[in-house]
Amino acid sequence: MSATISSGPVSSALMPAIAETAASTSRPLRDGILQTDPPRLLGSVCRACSTRLFPARDFCPSCGSDDVEGGIPLATTGMVYSFTVVRQAPPGRETPYSLAYIDLADGVRVMAQVTGDPDALHIGAPVRLDIRTVARRDGCDLIGYVFVPSLEPEVA
Ligand SMILES: [Zn+2]
Repeated sequence: MSATISSGPVSSALMPAIAETAASTSRPLRDGILQTDPPRLLGSVCRACSTRLFPARDFCPSCGSDDVEGGIPLATTGMVYSFTVVRQAPPGRETPYSLAYIDLADGVRVMAQVTGDPDALHIGAPVRLDIRTVARRDGCDLIGYVFVPSLEPEVA
């Protein structure tokens, strides 16, 4: 994870823990759901019927096969299939915000927050993926994902 491990006088038994602590200032909200370089959501694909899913699963709900491959980078653009505006949320969460089903260009349907003015969002709106810090916990940035409207609404 880090290239800062030295061969100095510090006990080598201690070094891995120190290096790991220094390097883990950010991590995905959930393991295995995304990569940051290049920014992509990671899904799964069924080798039997080619169904792609996010998040990744160990079996295919479409055909029942367990011949499924994970860690598949998904498309970064899509369109809003449907959405709702969340107006009440747990403390610390700013409202209102849009929560949408997004149909990605490769056919995968993803649920995610869409940034921007909820009143300007509409079904069919083109959106693009943005991997970003979505929370901070125990001094660690949690990396998650949102979708951003591709076309900013024109100012009247
Ligand atoms: Zn399948």
